[in-house]
Amino acid sequence: MAKNQDEIKEEYPKICFLCKRPESKAGKMVEMGGNICICRECMQHAVDSMQASGLSYNGIMNLGDEGSTEPPETTENTEEKEKKGSKIPSISMINLSDLFGGMGMGLPRQQVKKKKAKEKQEEKVFDIKAIPAPHKIKASLDEYVVGQEYAKKVISVAVYNHYKRIGTGALDDIEIEKSNMLMLGPTGCGKTYLVKTLARLLDVPLAIADATSLTEAGYIGDDIESVISRLLAAADNDVDRAEQGIVFIDEIDKIAKKKNAHQRDVSGEAVQQGMLKLLEGSEVEVPVGAASKNAMVPMTTVNTKNILFICGGAFPGLEEIIRERLNRQAAIGFLGDLRDKYDADPDILEKVTVEDLRSFGMIPEFIGRLPIIFSLSALTRDMLVRILKEPRNAIIKQYQKLLALDEVELTMDDGALEAIAEKALEKKTGARALRAIIEEFMLDIMYEIPKDENIGSVTITREYIEHTGGPVISLRNVPPQISCS
Ligand code: ADP
Repeated sequence: MAKNQDEIKEEYPKICFLCKRPESKAGKMVEMGGNICICRECMQHAVDSMQASGLSYNGIMNLGDEGSTEPPETTENTEEKEKKGSKIPSISMINLSDLFGGMGMGLPRQQVKKKKAKEKQEEKVFDIKAIPAPHKIKASLDEYVVGQEYAKKVISVAVYNHYKRIGTGALDDIEIEKSNMLMLGPTGCGKTYLVKTLARLLDVPLAIADATSLTEAGYIGDDIESVISRLLAAADNDVDRAEQGIVFIDEIDKIAKKKNAHQRDVSGEAVQQGMLKLLEGSEVEVPVGAASKNAMVPMTTVNTKNILFICGGAFPGLEEIIRERLNRQAAIGFLGDLRDKYDADPDILEKVTVEDLRSFGMIPEFIGRLPIIFSLSALTRDMLVRILKEPRNAIIKQYQKLLALDEVELTMDDGALEAIAEKALEKKTGARALRAIIEEFMLDIMYEIPKDENIGSVTITREYIEHTGGPVISLRNVPPQISCS
């Protein structure tokens, strides 16, 4: 039985007449009539090349049947021609801007024009007083980040200098070098948290990227430049703001040179190479409002000269490299140290040198562009206890606030805090483990307490955390405490 046109259409997928890709790959098709479909990309290429050769779309559509060079028709001369009986090509007019607009897209490949550099310089008035002094930056960081005194000091000074550098940049001929940073420290010790807090305090846009997903352009994964488009998104597509933002690249140790690699190292050394120009400062063309470049996304140019890059990583195995070097030096004898002096040093990361990072697999050009190298220490039990209760938005404070809404007072005795910190230490994921542990035992409390309106306060004890007892609950207006298990 012969199938009608509609049945045939349903059975066969639409295929682009030009590039032969099916609709599932090429996206929505534009139907041209006569069963011909063209994908948006090919349509755009066609329009682009027409425009490049000086032809307008309408001009082409209006050409006479012999390709005459008569001026484009108006309604009047169309009627005239009709009267004369001349043939008019049966091509319907399509307004491309309506077409793409109807699909929820703006005209593709529009260049978002950046303000001219000259105008920009005039706008920028350097005011050193507007930049908080390093001690003020550190004091604000202290409210959120526990411990890591050295790291907070280094980062405060570096950021202060960085923004001073942006301000004075063009004023005289002594150019201050960029203070990009490399932060080393075990997982969960507050690297990301430090940068996030800093960006919030300074009110500058921040992009956090993961180096593990980055690959050399053209390979599966994110292009290196995608970090800049993220920054642009964080700055609400305001190029000027993005150009003074901070980019934090986490897990930077994962782009170390692969040892004994027989293939091209697209996610290691190649990424380090690719990042060189970003770190130093260059003009990057990035898509606006999308993570990847394609024909349909408008592009803009971002200059990375004033973007502060902070790289962070745990660098597993680096301690061993540092220890070996130090022990080797001790063995030579001129330092007069014991050979095994560094074997049990918990702060061995502080002694890192560029040479150690090179042995780890970072290329010298890359490390050279991160002049400020510092480390964060692993969190101790006492630091974890302080993280639980001291920061402005400490986890315990958050729960206290939640229960206060039920008019219930929550307290944790010292034993409970220590028990939580000890449990977290066992997990070896730094402060990240704290929330998981607390959530686990707070679940029952948050569920049971609102049931009984007479409950006035709850005290969490070490026994409750260790599952050997219960919390101490006291009722409203009833002084004696009842321990429930
Ligand atoms: P990483 O060092 O792996 O980047 P994060 O910065 O993401 O670790 O830390 C995870 C969480 O632990 C943070 O969101 C923060 O709440 C908490 N945290 C870690 N270190 C500290 C610290 N020194 N002071 C306060 N909170 C911290």
